[in-house]
Amino acid sequence: MCAKQSTELFEQAVKLIPGGVNSPVRAFGAVGGKPAFMERARGAYLWDADNKRYIDYVGSWGPMILGHGHPKVLLALREQLEKGVSFGAPTALEVEMAQCLIAKLPYMEMVRLVNSGTEAVMSAIRAARGFTGRAKIIKFAGCYHGHSDGLLVAAGSGAATLGVPNSAGVTPSQVADTVVAEFNDIDGTRQLIRELGADLAAVVVEPLPGNMGLVQAQPGFLEMLREETQQQGAVLIFDEVMSGFRVAAGGYQQLCGIVPDLVTLGKIIGGGLPVGAYGGRQDIMAQVAPSGAVYQAGTLSGNPLAMAAGLATLKLLEEAVYQRLEELAQRLETGLREALESLRVPAQLHRVGSMWTLFFNEQPVTDYASASKSDTARFGRFFHAMLQRGIYLPPSQFESAFISTAHTAADIDETIKAARGALEASA
Ligand code: PMP
Repeated sequence: MCAKQSTELFEQAVKLIPGGVNSPVRAFGAVGGKPAFMERARGAYLWDADNKRYIDYVGSWGPMILGHGHPKVLLALREQLEKGVSFGAPTALEVEMAQCLIAKLPYMEMVRLVNSGTEAVMSAIRAARGFTGRAKIIKFAGCYHGHSDGLLVAAGSGAATLGVPNSAGVTPSQVADTVVAEFNDIDGTRQLIRELGADLAAVVVEPLPGNMGLVQAQPGFLEMLREETQQQGAVLIFDEVMSGFRVAAGGYQQLCGIVPDLVTLGKIIGGGLPVGAYGGRQDIMAQVAPSGAVYQAGTLSGNPLAMAAGLATLKLLEEAVYQRLEELAQRLETGLREALESLRVPAQLHRVGSMWTLFFNEQPVTDYASASKSDTARFGRFFHAMLQRGIYLPPSQFESAFISTAHTAADIDETIKAARGALEASA
């Protein structure tokens, strides 16, 4: 169901690039069909290679909170382009970025900039292991922390499962120290943390998971993680690569009130350019080379263009922005709920600020196991019916959609109208 130029590009791409894409989810594998190839973007809109316009709810998977091509971000990029795109030496921009992040996240004392969310989490875990001198980590089923070997571990059933790699090329020994727990399982996870005790280096969690679709922690879950890791001397890592600066000016930490030891960031802090960051407690971050013995480096880390775009974005993210996003998102939520109700579609609509997921699922979704029971075939039909109507959603049931400040009330209303038609078409 895709137009001429995109079809031709995809046919070329699959011969040259594995699966025709440079990141798997872009290939539409979870929804069927072939991907639209994008050519340009402005504000809330994307145009594909066939010049079809879409209202964009992917936002480059999160970074484009101001929409595409915000004038201040473009200006910052143009100014930096003239000065130089990469020096491989320290710059004032990196100091400014560190100051900006530390000012916005009061618990952050030191930060290191990297090039992706994957690198950020991989490096934060290394720092936690170096700091504690311990090996084991706990991650949660359905939480994604990038594609480093030790974090590509299958979701286990039951309270906890010892890690089994879920990617070819990852060896059992590379995930031997990764233990998988169930998100929102307070008692099971508490017991696991206590059992691992003095072997546990870190617990890593998306405090607001967006990678099994959007799911929220139940009251007490994050509190328990904080309390138990503290008691065991383990490091609590909040992975806010997606939620950081997306749901509040201080990240999800501001909304949940739980203070982690380390946080990982990405996406928004690069304004659409490749970036990542990890930071937090000074005593842990001081372990990182060259001040400490935990090695971590990067040719393009703190890249001037990424810093310029990220700083321009972060400077605009005042409280009023989140209010506007909340109003737009509330409008969308109300319209979608009305449509679901009047068409009698059994579904769970989850929303926190400008993040949202519509699960085609009759039961509450609280973790990976319950999310997995969603009707993915219906999601696929709904996705394509929306795409046809000019609405670009993430091409998987297990992703969060994003609203930007560039969306207008008219865009939201057009989306609700399209959703009504798409819900009917996908029944
Ligand atoms: N952590 C989280 C919570 C993410 O959502 C992602 C990417 N979606 C990553 C880590 C990995 O980031 P990247 O794709 O930039 O490597």
